[in-house]
Amino acid sequence: MTRYELRCRECGKTWGNQPRSICDDCFSPLEVTYDYDAVRAHLTRERIAQRPPNMWRYAELLPLPENYHPSLPVGFTPLVSAPNLGKQLGAKRLCIKNDAVCLPTLSFKDRVVAVALANARSFGFDTVACSSTGNLANSVAAQAAREGFKAWIFIPADLEPAKILGTQVYGARLVPIAGSYDQVNRLCSQIADEHRWGFVNVNLRPYYAEGSKTVGFEIAEQLGWRLPDNIVVPMAGGSLITKIKKAFDELVQLGLVDAKPVKFFGAQATGCSPISTAVKAGESEFQPQRPATIARSLAIGNPADGHYAIKAITKSGGWAEDVADTELVESIQLLAETEGIFTETAGGVTVGTARKLYQQGRISPEETTVLCITGNGLKTTDALAGSYETASAILPKLTAFESYLRDAVETQETVEV
Ligand SMILES: *Cc1c(COP(=O)(O)O)cnc(C)c1O
Ligand SMILES: [Zn+2]
Repeated sequence: MTRYELRCRECGKTWGNQPRSICDDCFSPLEVTYDYDAVRAHLTRERIAQRPPNMWRYAELLPLPENYHPSLPVGFTPLVSAPNLGKQLGAKRLCIKNDAVCLPTLSFKDRVVAVALANARSFGFDTVACSSTGNLANSVAAQAAREGFKAWIFIPADLEPAKILGTQVYGARLVPIAGSYDQVNRLCSQIADEHRWGFVNVNLRPYYAEGSKTVGFEIAEQLGWRLPDNIVVPMAGGSLITKIKKAFDELVQLGLVDAKPVKFFGAQATGCSPISTAVKAGESEFQPQRPATIARSLAIGNPADGHYAIKAITKSGGWAEDVADTELVESIQLLAETEGIFTETAGGVTVGTARKLYQQGRISPEETTVLCITGNGLKTTDALAGSYETASAILPKLTAFESYLRDAVETQETVEV
């Protein structure tokens, strides 16, 4: 076999390397598999540590064409301890993987797009495309501009304004669709059959999805080549959570970390919770839902990897929870006030879910737990509209400020009494 190739997740048939996501024999999804013996022979912790701090340091475990030279330093976002948030949640060893500052477009989607575009080039596409709940749109548009692809982006028409503008600014063709993400996605599958375009999350999906593994590789390396006890991951299509699990499994298989049980916890918004609902009901299959939540980046009612996400969570001894929109907004504020990290709605879902999991005793305070913050709050400021008043302006005079200060102190004292 070549260094890597596509293999059917169910029947095991191999398909070489081509822009295809489904097995024609059994209609199951394809996944990239590697020649792990070849990787084991030369990939060591020391080798990795000598490379630049970006996601390409794990190139042997990514489906990258021969002689591919990445042009952007994507990934290697901070893993920070979160003692203040931990105090609020009743957690002693809490860490945050902060992809709110992933480059170039401030969400973890930059990782998947980087790998997808590497393959789009080698498959000979000059146009790339995607269906998106927002962040993927931003990332495809930006990286297509950088790499010289034409880009066609399909979104539900009512996405957040910052995510729409943050796609258009890169010169991509933006096609708003009067429908839900699931309808947009179905349309894209049909377009992909008609046009020779590289749809990053349709015909390039197996390659795209591998990019998410780098979140897991980085967490293990940043913990000193150790796996955490628990990880809390927001779920839309359910791909990220399954790929973090694949990353941890690969590191164990290659002898780069010691094997240990890791519990996987999935987070959704209650208004779009097909995966968490199934987990809580003890079902192995989900029922599709019609999304109704402000967590637009997670609003996928028919998650492509939902089945595998449920399996990863339940097999690990983990759990899934969901939070109402009001709770996710409070959680955005809590994370910002305690740790100085401004996340988007998806991050509010993750923090709110973590709070529930500690309350329910499903995560023990002493264990090392990582929360995956996957996107940036500046893209979803609508979620906080009306949460803060701005005082009317004062004159640029010390007396004016002193009087302002007196009022502020008085108000505060009244509040505190
Ligand atoms: C897409 C997205 C997710 C979920 O990704 P899946 O792999 O589809 O489950 C989580 N957070 C943010 C901010 C996203 O944009
Ligand atoms: Zn098959």
